[in-house]
Amino acid sequence: MSDRYGNFVKSSIGKKVAKNLGLPLPVGLDRFESGQRLVRGSALIGSATGDDSRVSQAIARILSEMHVEVFVNSDDGIKEALADAGVEAKASTSGEDKYKVLLFDASNISNASELKQVYEFFHAVARRVERSGRVVIIGRPPEAADDIETALAQRALEGFIKSVGKEFKRGITAQLIYVAQGAEQNLDSTLRFFTSARSAYVSGQVIRVGNGTAIDIDWTQPLGGKTMLVTGASRGIGEAIARVLAREGAHVICLDVPQQQADLQKVASEISGSTLLVDITTDDAGEQIADAAQKRGGLDAIIHNAGITRDKTLANMDEQKWDMVININLASIAKLNKYLLSHDVVNQDARIVCVSSISGIAGNLGQTNYATSKAGVIGLVDATAKQLASGDKGITINAVAPGFIETQMTEVIPFAIREAGRRMNSMSQGGLPIDVAETIAWLASPASGGLNGNTVRVCGQSLLGA
Ligand code: NAD
Repeated sequence: MSDRYGNFVKSSIGKKVAKNLGLPLPVGLDRFESGQRLVRGSALIGSATGDDSRVSQAIARILSEMHVEVFVNSDDGIKEALADAGVEAKASTSGEDKYKVLLFDASNISNASELKQVYEFFHAVARRVERSGRVVIIGRPPEAADDIETALAQRALEGFIKSVGKEFKRGITAQLIYVAQGAEQNLDSTLRFFTSARSAYVSGQVIRVGNGTAIDIDWTQPLGGKTMLVTGASRGIGEAIARVLAREGAHVICLDVPQQQADLQKVASEISGSTLLVDITTDDAGEQIADAAQKRGGLDAIIHNAGITRDKTLANMDEQKWDMVININLASIAKLNKYLLSHDVVNQDARIVCVSSISGIAGNLGQTNYATSKAGVIGLVDATAKQLASGDKGITINAVAPGFIETQMTEVIPFAIREAGRRMNSMSQGGLPIDVAETIAWLASPASGGLNGNTVRVCGQSLLGA
């Protein structure tokens, strides 16, 4: 879709005009391409002082496997963990070095005054983060803290990281990862995602990594040998999801309504996937999916992406518009999950990912039906996550909540509202379908067993509902 303002401010005159008028200045975001290194630049790593080195050890191990060039401050305790993991960390300098990644282990921070260590680490290098850089803090979930002092300090990190996301600009993202005690070995997929260009349009997020089972995988082909179903795969975000999952090695069953047959077949044949022409609201949709899945040994992931909008203010909304949106976006997902989970179609350690929306978090004018359905999706994920956690199949469920993504769905929004939606975020631009797809590929990975019940916004840290 054309973004005339975005193109204008890329020219030298446009840049000057925008700067003088205080208008948003979107920069081109780094996005991952096959064959590239995950982190294109160096990383400065730090840690708060304390006795528990489990998070630092996990960070050191993961960075050594990612072959990232690591810098460290001379007095930082994380040096020992890095040395143990065989990482030859270079001494940081106070000079001109720039970093692609700033990563800080805050897991030992246990009171308000110790938060000063976060200030000290980031203050010194706040002007030295590269364009499309990554800022990540790892802490412990405040709700599991033993005392009030620890809980408040860990919770405080959320305000810090969200402010960094808004301040740093230039395509730099900032996230907080809360890892449960003993779940440090589950950090791999999450750290790889958030330090890389794959998370281009995800910022200001708080992620919880828990004690599920993360499966060891071949990182060059993370989804190799897996069968994954994507609904609404003929175009837009669904098409991008199917392409990214296939790029990562999965066989994708591409599902869409019969009217979309030609587009669906094109996508499926380009990624060597298969097609399934089913309207997800029909009574036998579950059976049809089960038949197709069982021929391929069951499903390793279900991506509930299909969705529609039928916008009208509540006073003007007819019953059909309400029913249709609730039925496709919400009721059918609940029905399909129930059927597929109870008919032995979903494999051990499978992943379910649902596409919600920031409209479901913030609400939106003219979208009572849509926002209800998308908030319901988050409710469904929360409740199902609890149920799955008590099961023995290692299945997880998470949601993504996209903000303004450049697709046919957003193309029809009136100009002024569209321009506001596109700019009101820390990236000053809309996201692309691939940004949602990369996020889903992370959640759908067998290595993401520690993620269950998260709702991750893919919205460039939109101001809506934040
Ligand atoms: P889109 O309209 O381009 O694609 C949606 C796809 O779902 C289409 O291929 C459509 O045929 C299919 N579909 C619709 N009803 C179906 C049914 N009953 N059975 C099977 N397939 C059906 O939309 P998109 O922008 O790619 O959106 C994909 C998802 O992302 C939706 O759930 C949407 O609500 C969500 N989302 C989009 C944005 C955005 O900015 N585009 C923002 C937030 C959330």
